[in-house]
Amino acid sequence: MKKARRMRMQSKIFRGSLFTTLVAAILCAGICVGYSYCSISLESRKNLRAEARNIAWAVELGGQEYLQGVEPEPKSRITWIGPQGEVLFDTDVQPERLDNHKKRDEVIKALETGYGESIRHSNTLDKQTLNFAVRIADGSVVRFSVETDTILAILQGAVPSILGALALVTVLALAMAAWTSRRIVEPINRIDLQQPGKDRTYEELEPLVRRIGSQNQQLQEQMDRLTREHEKQDKFRREFTANVSHELKTPLTSISGFAEIIRDGLVRPEDVSRFAGNIYKEAQRLIILVGDIIKISRMDDKQIPVQREQLDLHQLCEDVIEHLTPAADQAGVELILKAEEQVPQILGARQIADEMIYNLCDNAIKYNHPGGTVTIHLRRQGENQVMLQVEDTGIGIPQEHQGRVFERFYRVDKTRSKAIGGTGLGLSIVKHGALFHEAALDLSSVPGKGTTITVVFPIKPKKE
Ligand code: ADP
Repeated sequence: MKKARRMRMQSKIFRGSLFTTLVAAILCAGICVGYSYCSISLESRKNLRAEARNIAWAVELGGQEYLQGVEPEPKSRITWIGPQGEVLFDTDVQPERLDNHKKRDEVIKALETGYGESIRHSNTLDKQTLNFAVRIADGSVVRFSVETDTILAILQGAVPSILGALALVTVLALAMAAWTSRRIVEPINRIDLQQPGKDRTYEELEPLVRRIGSQNQQLQEQMDRLTREHEKQDKFRREFTANVSHELKTPLTSISGFAEIIRDGLVRPEDVSRFAGNIYKEAQRLIILVGDIIKISRMDDKQIPVQREQLDLHQLCEDVIEHLTPAADQAGVELILKAEEQVPQILGARQIADEMIYNLCDNAIKYNHPGGTVTIHLRRQGENQVMLQVEDTGIGIPQEHQGRVFERFYRVDKTRSKAIGGTGLGLSIVKHGALFHEAALDLSSVPGKGTTITVVFPIKPKKE
């Protein structure tokens, strides 16, 4: 995967600010130099133009005599040109050595309109000659020429000063950029992410700061919830461990007691078999209890993956009935299955669903009266559900216990439960199984009349 490049905000602002300052300074300097050059050259041209007119006027009045007496400024020159372009006089060169000037731009314009101007560049590009030509009354032209530096030459001369100014501006720009970038980034770095609303910051950052604040609050709430959950789980585990130890200790104490009496020869030979029977019964209870503890621990540990498959609840009910028929016969209870034709299969875990049905039916037999019945109803409910109901005609559960019978090791009548081999975990296993299958669980019971426990299974759990 391509790694995202990290950006440094401060250096980005620094570079941006430096670039902007330098560009602005250079542009400003360029505009100022350009503007000054233009205005100075326009002004000097205006003066030169006026001077050219004065000279022309003087030539018109004084003719050759005036020209011979005139002494032009250095780098300036006066030329008198006849109407045919022939040079009549020149302050620098003998006229006969000069060629005809009729084709010179300024002379053409002056002969045509009375006044003409031109600029001619020297070969070296650093000098230029400004020519101002004025036609006088006799049709001849007086030309005043001045040699000046070109803009390139002026700039070349100014290079050291320009470089010096640029260096100064660069240093200033660097200092300003460093200061600006630090000032911009500082309030952002100052934001306390634990309490983002505490410090004042940029208006533009306020939505982000508010979001961080509310996320912090959400995180805190989640943490509190998890801590409470964890503490509850912890308490729950401690209680479970204490209950397990207690439940295991009772049969083990009995077994140990019976065995001790037999070992010490305190039991008459004819009673030995009864005592051994008691040891066997307690050991059986232990085996069932340990089995239930293993089942519930396995369900608790959600890490263990459980294979889901299509389950035929009708078949599972028939299997349970077959398994429990001897116990039901012994208790004088009749087992009835009332199942609809074609009950849809559900997606579930075979072993867990089997344990749920078994425990419900086992309880319905255990807490029943001789001659009573246990009826399993199985039918489709709505489009996506299957209802399993175990209804008995037994002793029922008093109202005040109905909310607690699904808790681990909770029994309404401890002595009765133990006497008939109950572990206090049967309904907990049912509740776990319902949770696993995302099934709804309901209990209704009337003491002395019977109990009905209903489980509504979704055909396909959502988590699948
Ligand atoms: P146990 O192993 O004691 O039966 P359970 O978790 O299966 O444990 O049930 C908890 C308690 O709920 C039982 O001890 C019993 O008091 C009561 N109980 C459960 N099922 C029935 C029922 N069908 N009729 C009456 N009481 C019941």
